[in-house]
Amino acid sequence: MVTFRGQTYPGKHKPIIELDVFERCQDLLQGKNRRVRNANHYLAGGMFVCAHCGYGITGERIVRRMKSGRVHEYVYYRCGNLEPAPDHPVVRWRQDQLEEAIQRDLAALHIPHDERRDWFRRHLAAACDDQNRLREERNRQARKRLTELDQMQQRLLDGYLGGAIEKEAFTAKTTEMKAEAERVRQQLDGAGTCGDEVGQHVLALFDFAQNAGQDWGVSGKDARRAILGRVLLKRSLSDVSLVTTKRKPFDVLIEGLDLSKSRGDSTPVELFVQGIRAWEPGIKGLLSRETVKRD
Ligand SMILES: [Zn+2]
Repeated sequence: MVTFRGQTYPGKHKPIIELDVFERCQDLLQGKNRRVRNANHYLAGGMFVCAHCGYGITGERIVRRMKSGRVHEYVYYRCGNLEPAPDHPVVRWRQDQLEEAIQRDLAALHIPHDERRDWFRRHLAAACDDQNRLREERNRQARKRLTELDQMQQRLLDGYLGGAIEKEAFTAKTTEMKAEAERVRQQLDGAGTCGDEVGQHVLALFDFAQNAGQDWGVSGKDARRAILGRVLLKRSLSDVSLVTTKRKPFDVLIEGLDLSKSRGDSTPVELFVQGIRAWEPGIKGLLSRETVKRD
């Protein structure tokens, strides 16, 4: 800040140290503990909401100076509601406790038995192969039909030019065949199933889910936020527990892979593939880049 003729103006110089760092230093020098609000804690900022009131979970850092002179710093996450209802419990998690809870939550995606895990992975790969074969067959049929339509159009034109067909009939038939050709071409374009951008990553995504808990444990803060964003849709914290909703297709892994049961007419393998296809294009793009990076 710059003061000029009694008025205060924002200064052009950047502060040499950030205010909260400065304040912490001051407090430490004076032997005080201090809460620092609004500091940039990596699990705050909308990553979680309070299960009781829906407010965002915010972070705070508490610095304690011990009698020995050692300084301890703790990061807490708590409900950001400044005027909670009287029955609102205290929602406050130490960072390492929250990190552990997240890791347990992610680890639940892991299929514990090697045999079951391999089995599911093999069936995912096979499902993609089957769908690719089907798609190739459909595409082959579609291309054949386009060639036929082309030849028919040529014969029709010959007939019209040779005087064997009236103009009206020629026009009507031509319109009809053009419309069919258009439909077939659209089928060809939209025929992507497992062979499309998403299908290529079915196995990579499955592997990602199987390792998500472990990866979380060894990742940096940005990577951790990315993992959360990809896997967990709704994340809420109560006074005692972390509750999350898994993004499709990861929900399939949580619900268990009992093959005798299936949701509607689909097996868990099909649901997993369908779940990925239901992702919005933006997420698919992100997903491709991330999975490619992993490989
Ligand atoms: Zn709350």
